[in-house]
Amino acid sequence: MPVTPLVRTRGASFGYDDVPVVTGIDLTVDDGEVVALLGPNGSGKSTLVRGLLGLVPHLGGQVELFGTPLAAGAERHRIGYVPQRHTLANAVRSTVTEIVATGRLTHRRWWQPTTTTDRRHVREALDLVGLSDRATDEVSTLSGGQQRRVLIARALAADPDLLVMDEPTAGVDQGNQVVLGQLFAELAARGASMLVVTHELDALESSVTRIVCLDGGRVDFDGTPAAYAAHHLALGAHPVGSGYHHEHHEHRAHTPAGRPLLGSPALLDAGPLLGTGVPTDDEPGRL
Ligand code: ADP
Ligand code: MG
Repeated sequence: MPVTPLVRTRGASFGYDDVPVVTGIDLTVDDGEVVALLGPNGSGKSTLVRGLLGLVPHLGGQVELFGTPLAAGAERHRIGYVPQRHTLANAVRSTVTEIVATGRLTHRRWWQPTTTTDRRHVREALDLVGLSDRATDEVSTLSGGQQRRVLIARALAADPDLLVMDEPTAGVDQGNQVVLGQLFAELAARGASMLVVTHELDALESSVTRIVCLDGGRVDFDGTPAAYAAHHLALGAHPVGSGYHHEHHEHRAHTPAGRPLLGSPALLDAGPLLGTGVPTDDEPGRL
């Protein structure tokens, strides 16, 4: 039985004011894939991922998320999105936990109280990005790279089926690059599906299963990291992140669709841990 891709576009175009920026896009993201989206500045990477999220007008072609047409809009909440920016606004006085907790809003109405399930997801997301010790600190006291990790934790807290990140490592210092690289490897090992816009493949090196390149609003390469390296060598260029260890991909844990990203791997092996709706988890509480 064919497995429904998480994302499937055919001849899709997205743009602004009826002027397409990306056109003829055939893009598929299957369950368990880690797809790196590369391309020069202005090639339309952000426009494409924002288009998939319904944040940029869809001007043509087919777009399906989890097998449902984008226009229906019903499946967007299953995508965790980390937008392209470097820091959170300093004007907003919020703690790290408060920001991450907003990631849980996709699971309940805003006026409903938080539950122990919400709080557990928030704690686990903070633990995963290595910021548990900063949970009660004001976000403005964190470095740019740490703030980036807060945004990733916010996306993870929603327990998404697909994580879409737009340049998560851009402008991040070396120490945070290493932490993010470890985080992506951990998520990939748990079977997370990711679509990541990046210029720095190194942080994703051991996790990427496929590379898609945009140029001038069109896909000009779509293949494995090995094929990408060969493509660049054929062009006489030095491949980005040329030290690919694509043999790592075979070691990726195979996990079925819908498996939660949070929780310890040992517990995950015992079956779904999160979001099972155990009644006692739903008592009201405060973060
Ligand atoms: P990338 O993320 O690859 O750097 P973008 O998707 O941000 O590229 O931009 C692609 C093109 O779309 C650029 O020419 C840019 O000027 C244009 N563009 C981006 N955002 C907007 C917008 N909000 N309104 C109109 N044009 C935009
Ligand atoms: Mg961009």
